[in-house]
Amino acid sequence: MMCKTGRFTRPNQACNGAERVEQRMTNETWGEIREQLQKRVGKNNYTTWIEPLKLVQLTGGVARFEVPTSFFGDWVLRNYGDHIRNHLNATGAGVDRVEFAVARAPQPAAAPAEDKAADKPAARPRKAAAAKPRVAEEDMPGAPLDHRFTFDSFVVGKPNELAHAAARRVAEGGPVTFNPLFLYGGVGLGKTHLMHAIAHELQTRQPQLRVLYLSAEQFMYRFVQALRDRSVMDFKELFRSVDVLMVDDVQFIAGKDSTQEEFFHTFNALVDQNKQIVISADRAPGEIKDLEERIKSRLQCGLVVDLHPTDYELRLGILQQKAEFYRDQYKGLTIAPGVLEFLAHRITTNVRVLEGALTRLFAFASLVGRPIDMDLTQDCLADILRASDRKVTVEEIQRKVAEHYNIRLSDMIGPKRLRNIARPRQVAMYLSKQLTPRSLPEIGRRFGGRDHTTIMHGVRKIEELMSTDSQLADDLQLLKRLLQA
Ligand code: ADP
Ligand code: MG
Repeated sequence: MMCKTGRFTRPNQACNGAERVEQRMTNETWGEIREQLQKRVGKNNYTTWIEPLKLVQLTGGVARFEVPTSFFGDWVLRNYGDHIRNHLNATGAGVDRVEFAVARAPQPAAAPAEDKAADKPAARPRKAAAAKPRVAEEDMPGAPLDHRFTFDSFVVGKPNELAHAAARRVAEGGPVTFNPLFLYGGVGLGKTHLMHAIAHELQTRQPQLRVLYLSAEQFMYRFVQALRDRSVMDFKELFRSVDVLMVDDVQFIAGKDSTQEEFFHTFNALVDQNKQIVISADRAPGEIKDLEERIKSRLQCGLVVDLHPTDYELRLGILQQKAEFYRDQYKGLTIAPGVLEFLAHRITTNVRVLEGALTRLFAFASLVGRPIDMDLTQDCLADILRASDRKVTVEEIQRKVAEHYNIRLSDMIGPKRLRNIARPRQVAMYLSKQLTPRSLPEIGRRFGGRDHTTIMHGVRKIEELMSTDSQLADDLQLLKRLLQA
């Protein structure tokens, strides 16, 4: 039975009949070795990879283990093969080689390479790791890709040029130069679009690659399901067998302990194999609350790029591109000059809202048979325009800043001068000056009746610190984004 070798077993000499029993390894000895291995590889790796190993034969200088799957054997051989051999030899076992073989399955499965499953369409799809070529769609737990989210349809401007360039580099599929690529930015700034674009491009350029895109939420859902079905091994196998893993909105797993743990191990396993990882989040790794420190630092190891809020030119560029698309769809509809400029000027929140506005304009115009001019725009988009008129207030700023620095709202306007309170207060003053049309005396009144010179001092102080204190600069950027979202 043990002659049936998977692709992960090395040439099997022990089965050619010339067996020489060198030593019968008792279960107790293997037990001792396992304990030593646990110290060496850590509890988690031990539970995952060493504990399930069953030593079934130790003859002819070969130690053979039974493993649950071929992927498993492959993995253990590559990562722990030498450790295991050395430990065995330390007990005088005289092992030249360790081998891993899958226990005979209840229903015989075809050998991986020569699988004739294609003749039988009804056959169960093969497991991801066993089927070396592209994983069958139904085996991949990824989210479907939006065919519209390509590099072609992505408009590049100053706020996103770095993120775009990094995404392009990853999409070339060359040697992994930064791992992970971490994209972050506010809602609707194009993170998901760029990730899908990477996936599309890789699939075109290198169809043999297994590219897996999914949201962090789906990752968690899959993991919880695997726990419930007792198929964690399959889960691990699947996620460790991809060539490119993309996880969207990773902030979602913050505070979800076992999912974080599993994510961390998946992440490390892939990085160790030099597989590309792309992650997105709504903020920088260091800013994600309730995310384990070790994960934060791992996420920071690669290239961290942010998508800045859109500027006028980028918004106009995006609108022009979408308008062109719609002009083809709604033949005969024209847009009066100035309408796109007006929208780019007025709707500054996020690209999704901008797109929504344009979609609605075209639909509405075609329905009522009117040209798209300023009148129609005002009628049709009154609610969106009103909402984007909303101005940030000093009170809102105080609330958000207090929340961010974990101080009481009352301390914002109170007299305390301790640094850990005074600094956030100055941050709030600075943001009030920046984001609201209020004058210094008006702001002063809202900070417990402070004099306008105090506010000016606070604003200056923050401006000064900003250039030297990168943590403060990050805080300000995050707060601005949250307030303007
Ligand atoms: P995020 O994932 O950052 O929240 P998305 O990638 O879902 O944002 O983008 C929201 C919408 O805006 C999508 O329809 C996307 O195509 C569009 N979009 C965002 N940025 C751009 C861009 N630079 N060029 C073209 N479309 C964009
Ligand atoms: Mg997204």
